[in-house]
Amino acid sequence: MIRQFELVEKVRSYDPGADEGLLNRAYVFAMKAHGSQTRASGDPYFSHPLEVAGILTDLKLDSASIATALLHDIVEDTEASLSDIEMLFGRDIARLVDGVTKLTRLELQSEQTKHAENFRKLLLAMSEDIRVLLVKLADRLHNMQTLHFVRNPEKRRRIARETMDIYAPLAERIGMQRFKDELQDLAFAELNSDARESILARLNFLREQGGDLLERVREQLARDLDEAGVEAQVSGRLKSPYSIWRKMEQRNLSFEQLADTVAFRVVVPTVGDCYHALGVLHSRYPTVPGRFKDYISTPKPNGYRSLHTGLIGPEQQRIEIQIRTREMHEIAEFGVAAHWKYKQGARAVDGRQYRWVRELLDILDHASNPEEFLEHTKLEMFQDQVFCFTPKGDLIALPSGATPVDFAYAVHSEVGDTCVGAKVNGRMMPLRTRLTNGDQVQIVTSKAQTPSPDWEKFAVTGKARARIRRFVRAREREQYIELGRNMLEKTFRQEGQDLTEKALKGGLKKLKAESVQDLHFSVGTGHLSAMDVVHAVYPGTKERGGWRKVASIGRRAKRDKTQENAVPIKGLIPGMALHYAHCCHPLPGDRIVGIVTTGKGVTVHTIDCDTLQTFAETPERWVDLAWDVDGSSVPFLGRLHIVVANEPGSLGNLSTVIGKNDGNISNLKITNRSIDFFEMLIDVEVKDLKHLTDIMAALRAMSVITSVERART
Ligand code: MN
Repeated sequence: MIRQFELVEKVRSYDPGADEGLLNRAYVFAMKAHGSQTRASGDPYFSHPLEVAGILTDLKLDSASIATALLHDIVEDTEASLSDIEMLFGRDIARLVDGVTKLTRLELQSEQTKHAENFRKLLLAMSEDIRVLLVKLADRLHNMQTLHFVRNPEKRRRIARETMDIYAPLAERIGMQRFKDELQDLAFAELNSDARESILARLNFLREQGGDLLERVREQLARDLDEAGVEAQVSGRLKSPYSIWRKMEQRNLSFEQLADTVAFRVVVPTVGDCYHALGVLHSRYPTVPGRFKDYISTPKPNGYRSLHTGLIGPEQQRIEIQIRTREMHEIAEFGVAAHWKYKQGARAVDGRQYRWVRELLDILDHASNPEEFLEHTKLEMFQDQVFCFTPKGDLIALPSGATPVDFAYAVHSEVGDTCVGAKVNGRMMPLRTRLTNGDQVQIVTSKAQTPSPDWEKFAVTGKARARIRRFVRAREREQYIELGRNMLEKTFRQEGQDLTEKALKGGLKKLKAESVQDLHFSVGTGHLSAMDVVHAVYPGTKERGGWRKVASIGRRAKRDKTQENAVPIKGLIPGMALHYAHCCHPLPGDRIVGIVTTGKGVTVHTIDCDTLQTFAETPERWVDLAWDVDGSSVPFLGRLHIVVANEPGSLGNLSTVIGKNDGNISNLKITNRSIDFFEMLIDVEVKDLKHLTDIMAALRAMSVITSVERART
């Protein structure tokens, strides 16, 4: 176990400005907090955070990271709390420790790793600060190094599986090759120890057979390069059992077919030297076709750079060679941690291929010291996503700002359509709640539920929005169809014509409708009047005696000419044409006045109509009029302005209520449609004012109706 002063010395050796006081306080606090706790190995628990800190000193990380490593298990495993840490070590350290604690809790939640890719993203998104992730990876590495002490085989296996599927790829993602290799090999030993043993035995056999083959080849290659004047360090190694296993698996090869089990690495000062060394080796040894790769001109996505080639080497054996500069080497081994180290050493970093590290380095260029750099290295790449769990532990990735409704639709369309509520982390929450990383979401469903138009206001995923919109449209359409059907039934009955499916089909072509439903829809939305349908289906239908055609809102003047012959008004000059004003729609019972227009006749207004002000200066055009409707069966047109809730069946109910009160909807126009309400103008044929007010009263009694007024336009 590394001792207190050794740890501090090690940090000071690469960072003379290290905060010694902080390291000492963290050491003592963590040791006391963990007290007499022990690990599965029997060691004092404190040996674990201390080893994790030691691993991070190999990466030459800053004091804050080392202190965080020492404190990383305090909140989860001891009596001390996060606020204790904040009080003693300040906000920044507390934030870092909190970050690691959150990842640890997440780890406990992940029963299965089938959503490995999402889980990796979740870890990255939740890390926020690169140091949190580095501490977590070092934590995992030490737990793997001591995994064999864990007695429960199932637990060992689960941890190894998780390491293989999540943490090793994560280390690779941020370019930490050495972490990745070690994590993989430790996991491999647990998951498939038989395979690993036999590969190791085979490698030993080969080594013994060939004597010190590895060393002989290494020396020869070093000599070749030296003679050509290339300054180079050459090292040789047997490939790791896991990487050999992977190749055997992927290429379906036996061990014997897998010729290149040894690999050599050539490290040179400059990029130019890399190509020089390559030329030297290619001119001396036959190359293996298809094995040359230039990852210097085209780096791997994680920023890895090197030249790779395959040769038949000095001992007539296939060998693999990687050529790189010192800097490329360190970046390949330590990834983002090496980038930081390089910048700290005030040396220019030319290897800026990490897609996301590049952004970090841009920040670095404007930061004056390493602390500030790390301060700003927020892992922002997955900040536009949130990752949540189902009750079973499945991970669902959603865009940030997503709500339980989005979650429900992501699980299954059915779940979305029938969702009535959501429990987030065990508590009932409104459906509009914004989800955060790591939330566990349980959707409550009910067969009776259908998507609410309100959801569209807060759902963010395309899938949810499309489903909701489609459903709302379909429902609106149904309502219009129902309304249109009611209007047609009524009109056909009044005209004494049979309304049959067959009859309607006969009129489809003339009305340019594709189906009967389509026709109902057009009538319901006011694109077609019910009378038009009667005429199309039964050409030559005479409108029944006394029934005047009602001016439709869309086309008015044309029809006015055919108005009633029986004049229900007293006070008219004989022979003068009569019109009813469209602004106020006067009804028997209203007090009325006439306005004479030369060549046109008399237009009847209600006495309180605003339009009359236009004629205030021309009193000679005003005519006193009175109704004379006794015994008249002539219907009049009343126009209503109605606000009705946008609910299933509300339009249908509306038309039913009007019909029951002997009114006839002759026209309807939606003037405003929102998610919650329809606003519309309805023309109703009535006997008189009292008839209209009766209808208005009946409508007001309906719960779905918000307001009913006579329209004054
Ligand atoms: Mn730990």
